[in-house]
Amino acid sequence: MKILIAKDAGYCFGVRDAVNLAYDTANDKGDVYMLGTIVHNERVIENLDKAGAKVVEKIEQVPDGKTLLFRAHGTAPELWKEARKKNINLVDGTCPLVTEIHHEIKLLEKEGRKTIIIGDHGHDEVVAIAAQVEKPIIIANIDEAKQMRKVKRAGIVSQSTQMIENVQEIINVLMQKVYDLRFINTICFPTRRNHEQIKELALQCDVMIVIGSYTSANSKRLTQLSLERNKRSYQVTSSSDLKEKMFDNCNSVGISAGASTPDEIIQAVVNKIKKIGKNTEGAIIYE
Ligand code: SF4
Repeated sequence: MKILIAKDAGYCFGVRDAVNLAYDTANDKGDVYMLGTIVHNERVIENLDKAGAKVVEKIEQVPDGKTLLFRAHGTAPELWKEARKKNINLVDGTCPLVTEIHHEIKLLEKEGRKTIIIGDHGHDEVVAIAAQVEKPIIIANIDEAKQMRKVKRAGIVSQSTQMIENVQEIINVLMQKVYDLRFINTICFPTRRNHEQIKELALQCDVMIVIGSYTSANSKRLTQLSLERNKRSYQVTSSSDLKEKMFDNCNSVGISAGASTPDEIIQAVVNKIKKIGKNTEGAIIYE
């Protein structure tokens, strides 16, 4: 059985850097605290916790003199302000591509535009983008776009991990609602590459395996993109979710993984599929 792994499967550079920063900071300073989980992956959180990187809900839970790490998803300015007032050290793990979205939405607001974010309600990244400007509108899907009132001038950014198809559908509706509309495409390049690769792989392979936590919106989106092109697509969280019957009459398997899936989980899945498929040649990286 042939195994093809999407080249950009798994950690994006933003998440990889933030996780490494959490380990390095825990090593250097003893404990490090994070507001919420650094990635949407339970195993990574457990391992980080063992290394001394703890999750807290509120800044007030960070003990005096300790270190607070702000995560890759970005953080609302009010939380930065609150943290600076405390006697704690701050480490910024914000992905530079998220910082770029903050910058873009502030520029759109300066141009006198109503700001619109295409993204998931309540997602940490979207919450932090929304906090950069006054009363932005958050639109997650086409139905919400249809309900929006007409506006004279508006500017749109998107959550970094959105699917371009969703964004395009929403913009088509908004074009009928906004006289002067400006769109900045802030889907990040690791997401774009990951999406392009899974779309191609899903058409070429008999079976598709997407590795990622069910709490990860971007893993779910990958699964959706794959399922739309290949009915034999399965999302798994680890190698133990794989069943031999998934691979009946299968000559080729495509593998992708969400941006919060660590390398060791991907490797364990590949190893198990190799065993099931009696693959002795190894896996091919699909670019
Ligand atoms: S998904 Fe994109 S924007 Fe988000 S952390 Fe990864 S690289 Fe940065």
